[in-house]
Amino acid sequence: MGRYQRKVGILRRGVAVVAYVITEACIGTKNTACVGACPVDCIYDGGDHYLINPEECIDCSMCLPECPVEAIYPGDEVPEHLQHYATKAAEYDYSTIAPGWGAN
Ligand code: SF4
Repeated sequence: MGRYQRKVGILRRGVAVVAYVITEACIGTKNTACVGACPVDCIYDGGDHYLINPEECIDCSMCLPECPVEAIYPGDEVPEHLQHYATKAAEYDYSTIAPGWGAN
């Protein structure tokens, strides 16, 4: 199984499988501490919140403790009501934006 399939696979119940996911609490905050902590620059400004590109994330967890609003979850621990953030991160077209600090 390839890297992409492992990290962005789709389970039978239709839930995207990603390494780490930024969720709702980022909206209105966009603190950027996670962006500075990421060693591979795989966190992108997705508009109202940041997104982790699951194809680039190396699963290091460095971003997790940096978020002051606890918006980041390991992919397999995302609450059901926040699963759409995992789907959005998995399906997002990252080719249109640069990683990192970007727009606010
Ligand atoms: Fe970046 Fe590591 Fe967080 Fe993935 S887990 S987004 S590589 S800091």
